[in-house]
Amino acid sequence: MTRDKIEEIKTKFLEEIKKEKSTERKKKICKKYIEEELSSVFCSLKELTSEKKGEIGKMANELKKIILEEMKQGGEKNRKEKGKIDVTFPGESPQIGSIHPLTKLQERCENIFSKMGFTVVEGPELENEWYNFDALNFKKDHPVREMQDTLFVKQKNRENLSEKEKLLMRTHTSCVQVRYMEGRKPPFRIIVPGRVFRNETTDSSHEINFYQLEGLMIGEKISVANFKSVIGYFFRELFQSDVQLRLRPSFFPFTEPSFEVDVSCSICKMKGCSTCSHTGWIEIVGAGMVHPNVLENAKVDSSKFNGFAFGVGLDRVAMIEHKINDIRLFYGGDLRFLKQF
Ligand SMILES: [Zn+2]
Repeated sequence: MTRDKIEEIKTKFLEEIKKEKSTERKKKICKKYIEEELSSVFCSLKELTSEKKGEIGKMANELKKIILEEMKQGGEKNRKEKGKIDVTFPGESPQIGSIHPLTKLQERCENIFSKMGFTVVEGPELENEWYNFDALNFKKDHPVREMQDTLFVKQKNRENLSEKEKLLMRTHTSCVQVRYMEGRKPPFRIIVPGRVFRNETTDSSHEINFYQLEGLMIGEKISVANFKSVIGYFFRELFQSDVQLRLRPSFFPFTEPSFEVDVSCSICKMKGCSTCSHTGWIEIVGAGMVHPNVLENAKVDSSKFNGFAFGVGLDRVAMIEHKINDIRLFYGGDLRFLKQF
């Protein structure tokens, strides 16, 4: 089999097709070329050297494409002319979507926490001020209320409404803590994944919405050691690496004491890289022991029960894992980006 032979088949095919007027007969010609000429070309490939095989195989495939295209056009024309469906007509394979990288990550997190006995809980994205701020110990005049740039919902006579009637887009998933604890008896072990909203100007690291995963564990005599153990297991499983943790003091209204958790950079093994800003550590979790006021607001006896809560930004974790440098890619709907997952 040679290049010339294939060129010859191609010329012969195109000539025959050109001469033929009837789409029915054109289709027969296409079938004949695929079943006879092309199949003998493909059969003869095994006798060639691997270099030749690649070259001739490629040409034969190109010719096959031309013939199939001709068949398809004929089929379409035929269908339009007769209004019939040609069942022998080669089908079009449908485009299959893929699971969004954030959904994939969320599912992985849910599996890891499920193994530790955590229940996955969800709550509303349109929240009221009571659950988003007041129940979580944000004082009325507290600067944190201003710090969180919130998307408030326009309502008539808003100033005269109660905190439970004033609506906003939730700024964190922590509101679900109180919603869940109300009317239930401890111990609790839950995670709350979900979408949250901020009134941000978008750039490569800020979006108007993003995904959080909140965790809460309440019981008798829960300590920071329990938290370190749970969060350590989570990150070791997630990154499939023996990560180290570092706790630094911080402030959140709903926890006391509060801390930021840094995870050792598994990309550079703590040698320093752009992901960890050359520090060897990645700031990834906000956490703390749940403030007694939050427990009381949720009707849980704070003299008997205590526990910890934490929040992880899923977008940030996915960006670190896949070395994605722009958060907006998650929400842009660009298929070139999404097809990589
Ligand atoms: Zn690093």
